[in-house]
Amino acid sequence: MTATLELTQELLRRPSISPEDHGCLQVIAARLAPLGFRVEPLAFGPVANLWARRGEAAPVLCFAGHTDVVPTGPREEWRTDPFEPLVRDGVLYGRGAADMKSGLAAMVTALERFVARHPDHRGSLAVLFTSDEEGPSVDGTRRVVEVLEARNEKIDWCVVGEPTSGEVFGDTIKVGRRGSLSGRLTVHGVQGHIAYPQLADNPVHGFAPAMAELVATQWDAGNEFFQPTSFQISNISAGTGAPNVIPGELKVRLNLRFSTEQTVEALQKRVTAILDRHRVNYSIEWFVSGLPFLTRPGVLTGAVERAVEETTGQKPAYSTTGGTSDGRFIAPTGAQVVELGVGNATIHKVNECVRVADIELLSRAYERVMELLLARGR
Ligand SMILES: [Zn+2]
Repeated sequence: MTATLELTQELLRRPSISPEDHGCLQVIAARLAPLGFRVEPLAFGPVANLWARRGEAAPVLCFAGHTDVVPTGPREEWRTDPFEPLVRDGVLYGRGAADMKSGLAAMVTALERFVARHPDHRGSLAVLFTSDEEGPSVDGTRRVVEVLEARNEKIDWCVVGEPTSGEVFGDTIKVGRRGSLSGRLTVHGVQGHIAYPQLADNPVHGFAPAMAELVATQWDAGNEFFQPTSFQISNISAGTGAPNVIPGELKVRLNLRFSTEQTVEALQKRVTAILDRHRVNYSIEWFVSGLPFLTRPGVLTGAVERAVEETTGQKPAYSTTGGTSDGRFIAPTGAQVVELGVGNATIHKVNECVRVADIELLSRAYERVMELLLARGR
């Protein structure tokens, strides 16, 4: 069994359901300290974080990821114990196998090999790991970045280990993510008897034309790196349950996933302009869960692309699709951020799994990124 598979299994045995870390970071810190990393556990509330750094000089190459996992879902649908890792036909099963304990293990073993071969590398190596990426993501990476910013400690290049691959390992890397803007809309009406509509004001009817326009709107055309902004209604409810009552209120939850073509303010304005034009009587609360970010082709994307190409023989595609990631907290500090990880076909599902061979390829690719960026005499 390889060191990377062994460490992945050790982490999988710990049921670190978000925001629980269950000792994963201690296991990792115990591997990094002997390599010369200055290990700094940073706990905030129930969340465990780890910042570890080897070297004082710039540039800083940081590996980022999370130890927490999402809940198992129905246990009876799992063919194996989700917290008892099992390899069958070259595939490793367990909650967190792909998202993203194999990624963490690949980072740790890559760091071990790289430091052994290049003890006097240039710049600094660092890791930023958290136990709250799948949860509210308030006391995790976001807080650690605040600590680093307060003492003016900068990350130049950040490799995030989220599962980014599709059909085969390394076919996709992420160079950015879309932003996410949510709204809680309440449409106000007047409740009444359904046979006396002149004495009531039906918020469902009031909202319907505006909803049709919101759904049909093309917000932008996207750009070279991003797909067009998407608008979705996730929840809608009104009515008392009685068939003879016009409801007094309609509640809607909506979400926009948007690119660097957009700003939060511009999107909010366009939504409210549509509601106003249709004379909807409403109030709305907005939540921004992440701003879009993009790392343009440069030193880091070049190194990651070359590392993947040398490891797998194929060129990765650049993507910005999918949900948000903790890269959204690191990119605004000015760091270049690229995500590279194993296949994402089973993440958050029952019977989550990863190909064992891909874990090894990932570790090789991470090691190669370090060589390309920090080995001396290159
Ligand atoms: Zn993840």
